[in-house]
Amino acid sequence: KAKQAHAGHAIYDPAHHGRNAARLSLLTELRQAVEGDELVLYYQPKHAFRSSAMLSVEALVRWVHPKRGFVPPMEFIPFAEQTGYIRAITLWVLERAVRQCAEWRRAGRAVHVGLNLSARDLLHPELPDQFRAMLEHHGCEARWITLEITESAVLDDPRKALATLERLHATGCQLSIDDYGTGYSSLSYLRQMPVQELKIDRSFVMNLTTRPGDELIVRSTIELAHSLGLVVTAEGVETEEILVRLGELGCDLAQGYFVSRPVDAAGLEAWMDHSPWA
Ligand code: C2E
Ligand code: CA
Ligand code: CA
Ligand code: CA
Repeated sequence: KAKQAHAGHAIYDPAHHGRNAARLSLLTELRQAVEGDELVLYYQPKHAFRSSAMLSVEALVRWVHPKRGFVPPMEFIPFAEQTGYIRAITLWVLERAVRQCAEWRRAGRAVHVGLNLSARDLLHPELPDQFRAMLEHHGCEARWITLEITESAVLDDPRKALATLERLHATGCQLSIDDYGTGYSSLSYLRQMPVQELKIDRSFVMNLTTRPGDELIVRSTIELAHSLGLVVTAEGVETEEILVRLGELGCDLAQGYFVSRPVDAAGLEAWMDHSPWA
């Protein structure tokens, strides 16, 4: 009886049982999604405040589910991270982004592609070699790629994560701190990391022109980043007013719906050919 109350709990709790079954079927579906090419990469272009020879974009994964339709990443990435399946998704995203970047370059389009890594990816020491092999296979130069990581990615196991970051950086790609301001990074902490870009989280950017405190944070973050030699991108730029203010504050790049929503590869090509921003 006592055993049943503890270890046996899951078996007798239909709600819990249902949840496990749902998780198992989501994992099965996610495997099918990767193997059956149900995932697709969208690309969101950034505005460069100082004119630039290349266009920087961020690759964002989408799942086009055969029955449920468009599934946003927040509905499966956290789950994939918990189950460890993120590893397969990351490799898929890397491969696609590298292939697409090389294709654009061959077509004369100078695109720089950023993509997202998860904390768990940094605990896999094989990742840098796998990334290097993909670059070679597709004829993509490492300097055309930026890997975005969140501050917290390094906190789980700093030594291991930093070692992976050093080896990723050694391939010649750029590294970027994503969602800056939401974690606990200090100046001294950032200096230990081989990063070249800092992305200010959209929660600070969205109220930039209405909350003086947020403007102070954005302004000092830009100054701090520049003093460390980092490029600064602001995320979540939804209005012209915010874009203009960021330019005045010396920000380097702006990403957000005001510039463009994320679009598929064909959509990005059309944007490059027709948008006044491009
Ligand atoms: P993130 O890396 O911070 O990506 C930016 C998110 O903000 C994207 O959401 C983008 O569509 C959204 N966004 C862009 N501009 C604006 C704006 O002006 N206003 C607002 N409100 N939102 C804007 P998305 O594509 O739904 O991705 C959400 C998160 O999912 C990403 O946040 C990232 O953490 C994760 N994610 C997306 N793709 C991947 C991937 O390939 N691998 C991994 N590991 N995570 C990914
Ligand atoms: Ca990102
Ligand atoms: Ca972000
Ligand atoms: Ca985010």
